[in-house]
Amino acid sequence: MNGHPAAAARFTANEARARWHDESLWLVREKRDRAAHALPEWEALRACAAEIKAHTLDHLGHYLAQFEAAATSRGARVHWARDADEHNQIVHGLLAERGMTRLVKSKSMLTEECGLNPFLTARGVAVIDTDLGERIVQLRHEPPSHIVFPAIHLKRGEIGELFHRELGSAEGLDDPTALTAVARAHLREHFLAAQAGLTGVNFAIAQTGGIVVCTNEGNADLGTALPPLHIACMGIEKLIPRVEHLPVFVRLLARSATGQAITAYTSHFHGPRPGGELHLVIVDNGRSRLLADRAHRRVLSCIRCGACMNTCPVYRRSGGYSYAATIPGPIGSILEPARDPARHATLPFACSLCGSCSEVCPVQIDLHHQLLAFRGELVRAGHAGRARRALLTVGGALLRRPTAIAVVAAFARSVARWLPARWLARAGGGWSRERELPELPPASFRSEWSRRRAR
Ligand code: SF4
Repeated sequence: MNGHPAAAARFTANEARARWHDESLWLVREKRDRAAHALPEWEALRACAAEIKAHTLDHLGHYLAQFEAAATSRGARVHWARDADEHNQIVHGLLAERGMTRLVKSKSMLTEECGLNPFLTARGVAVIDTDLGERIVQLRHEPPSHIVFPAIHLKRGEIGELFHRELGSAEGLDDPTALTAVARAHLREHFLAAQAGLTGVNFAIAQTGGIVVCTNEGNADLGTALPPLHIACMGIEKLIPRVEHLPVFVRLLARSATGQAITAYTSHFHGPRPGGELHLVIVDNGRSRLLADRAHRRVLSCIRCGACMNTCPVYRRSGGYSYAATIPGPIGSILEPARDPARHATLPFACSLCGSCSEVCPVQIDLHHQLLAFRGELVRAGHAGRARRALLTVGGALLRRPTAIAVVAAFARSVARWLPARWLARAGGGWSRERELPELPPASFRSEWSRRRAR
């Protein structure tokens, strides 16, 4: 066993943590449901967002050119990066040209994807992640385990220990307000000392050349208000055509991500602030290849809300690190194998095909259909592994022959009938407790049915 199954087995071995992780994310899913149900126009918003994104992707070249022209006319400098290495070189070049070695960074999954932090650190730049969750995982030398809640896999006590060890706070802290105060004091020093601020981009508006960054902590604003240099990094898919399209996405994003009506800060940057510089780094890194793939290009509509992770029974029970990928969960299980099929071949199989991810996706990506399609592609390309290929070949052959299915089902039934009842009760009982269903009876199915019929 390797890939996702092996890593998931390691996570689920700690039953208490797996259960708590599952329950924490389910609470977020429930909050999202309440927020969505409070808006009668929710489904219309989703449909509208999906159409805007589909239209933008169909005319991406046009909108990218329009965005570059508008941003440049507002005084921003636009840079184009073909891949992760070019992206990192551009960011480092901007800092090195100005002799800057202290950078504060707000959340950007793109820079995680490009491996920017280690690239800059190796060249003498001190990079401080200023999103609280990101700073926590950075202090632990770990990547984020979730795209919205980077430290969701950690308990408060573990964060208290980390802060005591790394930041010198009092021992045994686990009160969230006290922990936040420690982080705030620590980050404030870095905001004040920073020479440059780097942000991600949630939305880039082609019509105005402006960018929009959504945070709950205001760290993007703090990180860009003081230093003279603001670098914003975005994938080519972040574009929307016009400013009137923005409210559609802003209303969907926070509700889908955390169940809030809106993020605490929705910051608009239209050109550099007086006396400062704004540099926009627009990155491809495999996205145009995905754009050319008509079967999968819809995944480029993703607005990185994380809702598909919060609802996914596999993600909730196996944790973000089991995906060994920058973007975990259902959307990551498509994006990552699209980028590197050999390395991430097990991910599309980390899915129950329940369809819950597609149900919640605010831009209506048909995630479970995409995952299913990817399985076939990986098998055909020889990336699925011998055992899985054999299993799928046998399964496929069976599904084409209804009589064979009936024979196998009859055989399985007769075996199950004679299995010791306590085996079934033990196996099924564990599962029942997980799902809060009634326990299986401690008798065989056959005797239980006979008993019920006799009632
Ligand atoms: S695929 Fe949809 S649900 Fe998942 S992160 Fe992207 S926008 Fe959110």
